[in-house]
Amino acid sequence: MPDYEAVIGLETHIQLNTTAKIFCSCKADSWYDPPNTNICPVCSGLPGVLPVLNEAVVEKAVLLAAAMHSAIQPLSYFDRKNYFYPDLPKGYQITQYDRPIGVGGYLDLPMPVAPGRSAYVRHVAITKMHMEEDAGKTKNAGGVRLIDFNRCGVPLIEMVTDPDLRTADEAAQYLIRLRALLRWLGISDADMEKGHLRCDANVSIRPAGATYLNPKTEIKNVNSIDAVREAIEKEIERQVRETAAGKRIQAWTLEWDEDAGVLRKMRSKETEDDYRYFREPDLLPVRVTDEWKQAILRDLPELPLERRQRFINQYGLPEYDAEILTSERGLSDYFETAVKAYGGDAKRVSNWLMNDVLRMLNDAGLTAGQLKLTPLYLAELIKLVDAGTINVSTGKTLLEKIQASGKSPAEIVQVEGLAKVSDDAAIRAVC
Ligand SMILES: [Zn+2]
Repeated sequence: MPDYEAVIGLETHIQLNTTAKIFCSCKADSWYDPPNTNICPVCSGLPGVLPVLNEAVVEKAVLLAAAMHSAIQPLSYFDRKNYFYPDLPKGYQITQYDRPIGVGGYLDLPMPVAPGRSAYVRHVAITKMHMEEDAGKTKNAGGVRLIDFNRCGVPLIEMVTDPDLRTADEAAQYLIRLRALLRWLGISDADMEKGHLRCDANVSIRPAGATYLNPKTEIKNVNSIDAVREAIEKEIERQVRETAAGKRIQAWTLEWDEDAGVLRKMRSKETEDDYRYFREPDLLPVRVTDEWKQAILRDLPELPLERRQRFINQYGLPEYDAEILTSERGLSDYFETAVKAYGGDAKRVSNWLMNDVLRMLNDAGLTAGQLKLTPLYLAELIKLVDAGTINVSTGKTLLEKIQASGKSPAEIVQVEGLAKVSDDAAIRAVC
């Protein structure tokens, strides 16, 4: 039997954290609202209404496209994707089809060292990304089908990768990096449990090293990173088993059953023609002028992977430290402010942050920006330890005290008399 390699592409749906929905002024986030209370004639698809595009959706899409190195299209169009489903009251979804907002791009995935494998970088090309509206939700309750339209019209970005991923681990890593990037940019809460980030995976296999593509299956309904990893692993195993037994892989759509941990066949896959796409006649083309684009991109921060590399180069941090310190934008800002205030070896600041401050954040469920122990206080504290005014263990207690009181390290040391006594005469007197 030949060795097989997997060929995996991911389609993600990203819920943007705009205030309003994409084509009406209903609020976008109705997670805590009772069913069917956050709807209007536009998003519930009543006849005679007209959609109006929310500019904030375009702005967030442009930010994401720039961060993914995609070509931002100066002109893109909305289209109607026609299908009948109870959670889609209009009978069509407004989406972008052949002229999306972003084309091309990539995300580089640094893959960490693992047993039997050295570190490497997987380059994942982005095919395209487009804006669209979400559909409602249905659920079964005691033999009755219930429909909630609250989610209709919530803004989404659908982003599709080329089939560049080779393992379930890489697919998981893609989602981890993408989730971090979305939060870093501040355009989505990216909470998978709440459906802010949803993932479908296209999976096929081929003899290792081959360049052609075999028929693929599409795995739907996976809503955690662990589930994506597990579902893809199981599907690769199944395809290898079937191929080895001389069977052909069919282009099925599979659904991941989280509770049972198995994949089930939903249907033979539709082809795109079934949707009868045509241009949305109620919306103008989306024009992103150079001027508008530049105004949006003024808010584009240094990206996580760039900052990670800079921390390694500029501060001489080990890769491990740089990885953790850039896992969240607030934390990396905190680190850098503390390093500047400290003025000494950045690794000292990193050690205090990674050993003590991170534990404090985790225990209290806070983000770096919410700490009363500001980066300036942390820098001051490390200087007190360096100067021998306090020892390391007093320093650690002091961290907690600063966080509890919001007072400066020097003030607490003075008020509580925490300073180390090194005057021999004073110590003799006490003895
Ligand atoms: Zn509405």
